[in-house]
Amino acid sequence: MEYKGVMVFAEQEESVIHPVTFELLGKGRELADRLGVELTSVLLGDGVGDKATILIHHGADKVYLFEDQSLKEFDPLRYKENIVPLLRDVKPEAFLIGATRVGRTLAPRIAAALRTGLTADCTDLDLDEEGNLIQIRPAFSGNIMARIRTRTRPQIATVRYKVMKPAEPNPERRGEVIKRDVKVIEDSGLRILKKEPGKGVDLTEAEVIVSCGRGVKSREDLVIFKELAALLGGVFGSSRPLVDCGWVEREHQVGFSGNIVKPKVYIACGISGSPQHLFGMRDSDIIIAINKDPSAPIFSVADYGFVGDIYEIVPILIKKIKEQRRTAKNLKFLQHGT
Ligand SMILES: Cc1cc2nc3c(=O)[nH]c(=O)nc-3n(C[C@H](O)[C@H](O)[C@H](O)COP(=O)(O)OP(=O)(O)OC[C@H]3O[C@@H](n4cnc5c(N)ncnc54)[C@H](O)[C@@H]3O)c2cc1C
Repeated sequence: MEYKGVMVFAEQEESVIHPVTFELLGKGRELADRLGVELTSVLLGDGVGDKATILIHHGADKVYLFEDQSLKEFDPLRYKENIVPLLRDVKPEAFLIGATRVGRTLAPRIAAALRTGLTADCTDLDLDEEGNLIQIRPAFSGNIMARIRTRTRPQIATVRYKVMKPAEPNPERRGEVIKRDVKVIEDSGLRILKKEPGKGVDLTEAEVIVSCGRGVKSREDLVIFKELAALLGGVFGSSRPLVDCGWVEREHQVGFSGNIVKPKVYIACGISGSPQHLFGMRDSDIIIAINKDPSAPIFSVADYGFVGDIYEIVPILIKKIKEQRRTAKNLKFLQHGT
């Protein structure tokens, strides 16, 4: 009974709030309103104080702010050592964290320190009639949706990015920013030697994705599908087998154990449509499937389906797009000339 309220971990990197935070605030607000409790958020960093207001605009009633040079970069130990005492003090009944790399690193450490349960990779959250948090996530390779209730408090859940609607900001919303004393840990054992820039592939933000599956016969053939992706201003995706055999890097994988994507257009080339693959792309706005097997399950989610050989259809698509672009360019040239 002493645990009350919903708290959201506000993830930031270089003072930019990760969008999963706004999704958690949206869901957190809904749960807090149903329970008749406060929605709070915790923000750690260096020089991030002005971001607290953004969290309030997105639904938080209070923001607990930890600001110190030692928290400039994400460090699981330093973050944990500040969040755990806060949770002991504030005692929220639910604590929500994004299932990002940061969240997945941090959440188990916090749960272990508090000796409480943790449900990882949730895709939805609900409440039962007693007000317990129902943590919904796929189980058995995505074939069933498990509804999990944690007996211990706080109930901690990591939630996948892009599965919930982000909260709409309201600049009129007012709330409280509470500065907390930072427990400074001089040496956490972690040292950042160098920051490697990412490869620049972010499937979760892509508007167009051209994905390949086991219908592709050789690694060399991938260029055809990469070319189509580039022509459409999109990115290249893949089903898991091509990642497992080393043809494609893991960040391109779509599905249950890869990225959940929601592009405007998703083109699946030689992908059968296993439950694990569909899990990651079924919410795309328009799905186009190319498969030589008319009974392939991918057609059950496709808006447009081509029954045929990817080696025939994709080169025709590329040719047509190039032709159209050339015609449009010539037309522009003629119009400009007259
Ligand atoms: C725990 C777990 C997690 C998983 N996570 C993922 C995940 O995140 N993402 C994922 O994708 N999978 C995942 N899988 C694997 C998944 O179960 C399937 O094995 C995988 O999705 C199949 O990939 P595929 O469709 O490329 O291959 P296949 O199922 O072999 O399908 C190939 C398709 O290509 C078609 N085809 C063949 N040649 C051509 C051609 N020339 N032209 C047109 N069509 C052609 C065939 O008709 C067939 O439908 C996971 C599995 C497990 C157990």
